[in-house]
Amino acid sequence: MIITFLGVGEAFGQFANTSILVDGKILLDCGPHTLLQLRKLEQDLKEIKLVFLSHFHGDHTLGLPALLLASREENREEIMKIIGPSGLRDKIADLLELSYEKSFEDLHFELETLEIPDLNGCTKYGDYELEFAQTAHLIECYSIAISKNGRKLTYTSDGSPTEDTVSIAKNSDILIAEAYCEGFSGHSSAVEAAELAFRSHSKSLALVHIYRNKKVKEELEKAKRIFKNSFLPTDSLTVTI
Ligand SMILES: [Zn+2]
Ligand SMILES: [Zn+2]
Repeated sequence: MIITFLGVGEAFGQFANTSILVDGKILLDCGPHTLLQLRKLEQDLKEIKLVFLSHFHGDHTLGLPALLLASREENREEIMKIIGPSGLRDKIADLLELSYEKSFEDLHFELETLEIPDLNGCTKYGDYELEFAQTAHLIECYSIAISKNGRKLTYTSDGSPTEDTVSIAKNSDILIAEAYCEGFSGHSSAVEAAELAFRSHSKSLALVHIYRNKKVKEELEKAKRIFKNSFLPTDSLTVTI
């Protein structure tokens, strides 16, 4: 599995919004910086088959209209599947209308939308197994675990991990976890991320979405005291698991 960190930042910080590309075809979250990051990597947008939106905060969602309309301009014909929280289809319609006065019909390609509460915790996409767990965030928000050929990635997205997060993250080769700041209700921290990595028996931990005023190396040290194999990914870093 090839994992590209399109962005590792929080909503209002100095790094691109947290977004991850898996095998060039599964996009995890789509903030305002995501299309720019895909362009830098010369990613063919037609290759993106599935988009996971963890929740409707802007740093995870507001780049979607640009991705959809750029795909239309590049004559996409392939269906795009989008998986996200309750109300997903209406939310995308609102985003298209608000940003470019467009509708689903204007896209000229089909969008299939799947709401996570309808999936009973898991689904399949081709050879990929997808599992979902709700986090304790400020609004409805999901973590996702993706497995293929015995390899597993878990991306927590925003929020404190729940027991369900621990459960889907079990034995991840890489756990990509929000490490915003301790003491913020509805958010995780470097320590909580490391505890999640430890409890889930993950093999490595990537800390993302760190609060802008934190010294990232200090956050990394806090995590390493609990879970040694922690690291700080950078925008555009690619790793293979
Ligand atoms: Zn966020
Ligand atoms: Zn959020």
